[in-house]
Amino acid sequence: MKFGGTSVASVQRMRAVADRLIARRTAGDEVVAVVSAMGKVTDELLALAHQITPHPSMRELDMLLATGEQSSIALLAMAVQAAGIPAISFTGSQVGIVTDSVYSKAKILQLDAARVMDALAQHNIVIVAGFQGRTADGQITTLGRGGSDTTAVALAAGVGADVCEIYTDVDGVYTADPRIVPRARKIRRVSYEEMLEMAASGADVLSMRSVEFARNYGVTIHCRSSFTDQPGTIVKEADSLMEDAIVSAVTSDTSEAKITIRGVPDHPGVAARVFSTLAGANVNVDMIIQNISEDGQTDISFTAPETDLHRAGGALEAVISGIGARTWTIDDNIAKISLVGAGMKTHPGITARMFKVLAAAGVNIDLISTSPIRLSCIIAQPQVEVAVRALHTEFGLDASA
Ligand code: ADP
Ligand code: ASP
Ligand code: MG
Repeated sequence: MKFGGTSVASVQRMRAVADRLIARRTAGDEVVAVVSAMGKVTDELLALAHQITPHPSMRELDMLLATGEQSSIALLAMAVQAAGIPAISFTGSQVGIVTDSVYSKAKILQLDAARVMDALAQHNIVIVAGFQGRTADGQITTLGRGGSDTTAVALAAGVGADVCEIYTDVDGVYTADPRIVPRARKIRRVSYEEMLEMAASGADVLSMRSVEFARNYGVTIHCRSSFTDQPGTIVKEADSLMEDAIVSAVTSDTSEAKITIRGVPDHPGVAARVFSTLAGANVNVDMIIQNISEDGQTDISFTAPETDLHRAGGALEAVISGIGARTWTIDDNIAKISLVGAGMKTHPGITARMFKVLAAAGVNIDLISTSPIRLSCIIAQPQVEVAVRALHTEFGLDASA
């Protein structure tokens, strides 16, 4: 049972979470809980660090951010114990969550469930800090924003749980972010494949890595509200009960920026050098577009998370004169909007419909990328809400009023 920041934002909510854990335990289940930092604590810690220095050391930043979750687990364990039920809290490091050494977006390499199993055997409700782990040589790492979901799914796989319940401030996965589209509808069941594309394209109700993990280890996720008992959304292998909609969801992501390199000599090996330098600096490149070359020169644009911009800049400075390119520029006022749907595989014409709707809404398209079940466009950030709502309506996703 994983609880996000909003769900543990106050003492009162912490107690409500403790009550849920106890109720489940009383019903006869063994319970492992994963919690996030309270409320906006992670953002506050980040802001503090940036008041000290614009580019804090990545190691120290992870050391700092991991404290948010560490506070939550101790408080939640106290709340459970105060109700007379045994509970014990553990950090990621204590339960053997071993990651690679990429600070701020570390990947889980290994997890040793023995300590959790022992604590369960001693009748505890086990409470584990989300979002954190340690490297093989003992450095504290964090798993990237939203990473508590990943901790939860990894632990669910590790202990062989029946289900990984992700409790949050919405009552499931919707056809669009309900904050943007008030008429979005709850999706009852969704496949790993579609959920993965949704998470990757901005539906941060579940972190992308958590869905990847769930798919790889066959963990069923139940994403639901921490404020009600209504059933939420089940994420699992595709089956015949799932809707075969052409478009299942519209997503958006405003966390990326577009970088354009101008005057790039158009000969073999240049793109390889640019993108291997970026990869070496741990920049997650998303969409890439290269223009038709004129006079042996071309422009290359790509998108990457804004949080990677500083590293991307450093990498580009190092490579740009070496390849003989002219300049590079950044545009962080962009958004990515996407249509996701397994039915798109077999339905041509969706692209044209998407472009028509965007044109009618006066939205200009900058970059485009596709996968068999996703269609994404980069547009100007101020138009993102208009675009998402127009697409949601066009593809028949609006709830009836
Ligand atoms: P938590 O702190 O519990 O992890 P998050 O803020 O990470 O919560 O995720 C929940 C939020 O995700 C919701 O409040 C909602 O606004 C947003 N969201 C974005 N896309 C979707 C979607 N398709 N369905 C449901 N929620 C979504
Ligand atoms: N506290 C971390 C964050 O805000 C991890 C999480 O909540 O999943 O991103
Ligand atoms: Mg989250």
